[in-house]
Amino acid sequence: MHEIAENIRKVKGAVCKAAKKANRNPDKIKLVAVSKTVDSNKIREAFEAGQNVFGENRIQEAINKIATLPASIQWHMVGHLQSNKVKHVLGQFELIHSVDSLLLAEAIQKKAESIEKVVDVLIQINTSGEKTKFGVHFDEAVTVIKSINKLKNLRVKGLMTIPPYSVEPEDSRYFFRKLKSVKIKLVAENINIQELSMGMSNDYEVAVEEGATLIRVGTAIFGSRT
Ligand SMILES: *Cc1c(COP(=O)(O)O)cnc(C)c1O
Repeated sequence: MHEIAENIRKVKGAVCKAAKKANRNPDKIKLVAVSKTVDSNKIREAFEAGQNVFGENRIQEAINKIATLPASIQWHMVGHLQSNKVKHVLGQFELIHSVDSLLLAEAIQKKAESIEKVVDVLIQINTSGEKTKFGVHFDEAVTVIKSINKLKNLRVKGLMTIPPYSVEPEDSRYFFRKLKSVKIKLVAENINIQELSMGMSNDYEVAVEEGATLIRVGTAIFGSRT
């Protein structure tokens, strides 16, 4: 019956536990419910259970759903964004987790400037070096972010990563630490970012232990995607 509400309660409980273990304040960790492929009724169910931040990875799908759901929902874009689709995301999403190149950042800058908006973004880092993964190369992260940080209509709020898939949550820890190491290097260069978006259904507890401020959880809330 109220399975989604129950799942959200469980995830939040596990977040609290992991935060305590790491001496962190659980209030500093935001749960992003990744609702890609999930229909509006289920999203509404999660919303009515108190969840108000949702993540989507396809623009058209997201726009269709956003139109039918309460305006007080906060939407985050978590999927790869093509430069020519930028105009569709501005104004719809509170935060873009997936800025994965200087070129894309420049496309966002151009569009945002033309409509006099400032856009909050995270920079996606490819911490594993896998060729199939989007993201700024780990070794180039600081250089690229310094350039992105100069763009006036973007606010770089933090970093995002997706570790290689593994059934063993502990395998992700190394990649979460790599993401955190980029943050430390940036802070040393006076670029003060706050957010670390890391951790999905199978490894969000490890991510919380390693300093995640945003966790992106789909399956553990809505069930497996078919
Ligand atoms: C699908 C997706 C998630 C959620 O994955 P689950 O394993 O279902 O929790 C998180 N982040 C991104 C970028 C995704 O595309």
